[in-house]
Amino acid sequence: MSTTNTRRKPRAATQPAAALAPGSPVTRLPGIGKAAAESLERLNIRTLADLLYHLPFRYEDYSRLVPIAQLAVNERVTVTGTITSSQVVRLPGRRSITRVTIQDATGSVEAHWFNQPYLLQQLRQGAEVIVSGLTSLRGTRVAFIAPDWEFPDRDLLNTGRIVPVYHLTKGIGQHAMRRWTHSALTLVPPQLPEALPEALRSTHALLPIGKALAEVHYPSSDETLRAARARLIFEEFLYLQLGMLQRRAERTQAEGRPVPVDDTLFQRLQDSLPFELTNAQKRVTGEILADLARPHPMSRLLQGDVGSGKTVVAAAAVLSVVSHGLQAAVMAPTSILAEQHLASFRRLLAPFPEVRCELLVGSMSEAAKAEVRRAAADGSAQVLVGTHALLEDTVRFNDLGLVVVDEQHRFGVGQRAGLRAKGGEAQPHLLAMSATPIPRSLALTLYGDLDISLLDELPAERQEILTRVRDASSYERIYAFIRSQVAEGRQAFIICPRVDDEDAEGDTKAALQEHRRLQKEVFPDLNLGLLHGRMKADDKERIMQAMQRHELDILVATSVVEVGIDIPNASVILIEGADRFGLAQLHQMRGRVGRGVHKSYCILMIGDTASEALERLQTLERTRDGLEIAQMDLELRGPGDMIGTRQHGLPELRAASLSDLPTLERARSAAQALLEDDPALCKPEHIAISAKMHELWHTSGIQI
Ligand code: ADP
Ligand code: MG
Repeated sequence: MSTTNTRRKPRAATQPAAALAPGSPVTRLPGIGKAAAESLERLNIRTLADLLYHLPFRYEDYSRLVPIAQLAVNERVTVTGTITSSQVVRLPGRRSITRVTIQDATGSVEAHWFNQPYLLQQLRQGAEVIVSGLTSLRGTRVAFIAPDWEFPDRDLLNTGRIVPVYHLTKGIGQHAMRRWTHSALTLVPPQLPEALPEALRSTHALLPIGKALAEVHYPSSDETLRAARARLIFEEFLYLQLGMLQRRAERTQAEGRPVPVDDTLFQRLQDSLPFELTNAQKRVTGEILADLARPHPMSRLLQGDVGSGKTVVAAAAVLSVVSHGLQAAVMAPTSILAEQHLASFRRLLAPFPEVRCELLVGSMSEAAKAEVRRAAADGSAQVLVGTHALLEDTVRFNDLGLVVVDEQHRFGVGQRAGLRAKGGEAQPHLLAMSATPIPRSLALTLYGDLDISLLDELPAERQEILTRVRDASSYERIYAFIRSQVAEGRQAFIICPRVDDEDAEGDTKAALQEHRRLQKEVFPDLNLGLLHGRMKADDKERIMQAMQRHELDILVATSVVEVGIDIPNASVILIEGADRFGLAQLHQMRGRVGRGVHKSYCILMIGDTASEALERLQTLERTRDGLEIAQMDLELRGPGDMIGTRQHGLPELRAASLSDLPTLERARSAAQALLEDDPALCKPEHIAISAKMHELWHTSGIQI
């Protein structure tokens, strides 16, 4: 259906003639004064362009115009007619109902509004109105309760069409926002530059920008809305990918420190291991060593599930660099992990006694730190393992050739770059490692400037982890089971979604209270520890060490345990409120057990095993394939859980969602084609693209 016949041009009085530049301040629009501008600023809207790119987050479809006689209950529809009666019914306590009867050629219907007696001033008998809303039953008759309404003598923004719904802020209502986006749309587009060349638009069937913006705010149909969104998403992804690809091109031209591949050395390392490397380990080590041999700095992401054996791969890279007289720095997000790494590296590199590995973490004494810094600066320590402490200005290297960052998603882009900058003129190689496998296409976007190696195979004799979803009816059996495991000398984790009951609403267990309750009522004879994110770093450290030394039987914790802690003696992990976590995160937590020789168990507690959460969590009962789990998570919850865009150095996306992989891939190949044709984007038809790309990356404060 169409409502065009009811739509008129805006009244002359509200229509300033001249078009406005997209960069003009919002106060240039009629009706936006200082106060409104300040409110808009809270939504990061300063210019008209900002307003145009404040996209609706959803829509109300009021495009169905229905004759009043055909109204049915519980439908989202529009009627248009004449007001035949209107009155305010006063109720006790300053409450009131405004009751209006609307009539068209087929019949009449009532509309009610609560506590807005002033509406009577406008909704007078004899006036023509358009009313849109959800119909409901009042007594025996169909009526509209608090519908949207408008007079038909101006552009319809709130009724009779697909209506945009915006994110708002205090002081700004939907109606005002719609008025403003609409007037921006009538005033700006003549001056809105089209950044995408005709050829590109026709290849990818993209709407012109003016049309796309008009349709994304005020769609004439579902199809045009889809087309409009597609254009905006594609464009945003295009700038994102162009930025990534240029960053990558720059890097691949930078001067590096080639380290020739030394097969005998790698063979010696392999021969010294108590196990055979998996094929995946051999393959990715080959990729990395080949990268190190190139004259440009490596930037490689090593993705491998928990327990896939990334450390030994990193050790091969470290050994290769160190044996050529360069140094390596290995950074981990926590002291415990750093210490674990130091121990692993010392063990793995023991057959090469000339390699000296040292630790640098914040909690060391000043004297010890000074000593390590000296050894790094004069080159006598070839491998420095540490935390953020490595980033301090006082840490200098004699000749840094390789930077390894473990659990790299825990660090910002700036921190990775900061450590790398310690290499001096020629950039050191970078090996970033992550145990959060994400689907390849997403990885390409997030780390579009990195090369990716995937460790997609677990070492053969991995302990089984039996995973089961359970509800409250099983507590007794579960606690008895944990007790029996402890009796056999094992340890357990109990994970709660929240820190403290006092905090917020929610019915899930909180670590503080649960720790107290379990210690007092359930396991009074066992040693329980408590670990959560609000504890001081020292206290966390102490608790983790106590767990490692088996002074604790059970550790009650929040999801902080997710980061690669290695306690081979732990065999049970009980996760409370499991439906509150993403699958990938649960998978990470599950990886805290099954690391030793003991068969292990993961119990996922949910409120109600009849719930839809059950099916989602049963994925974990079925598979231990991190990639498959991540893919499921991406489909079910979007990428937000896996990534924080800021953290990854990505600009904020306004239209696009990272789960929209097909568009992402199309944009990536379009970006590749553009750069092949015009690497610096300096042809006249690409100037606008280049400017918009820089704008996108620049407003995010990211240098490319
Ligand atoms: P992650 O990828 O989670 O960092 P690690 O490097 O810590 O995994 O390895 C986990 C455990 O598996 C370590 O104890 C390591 O010694 C062992 N490991 C690594 N590679 C192999 C292999 N090919 N065969 C058997 N065990 C291995
Ligand atoms: Mg690891």
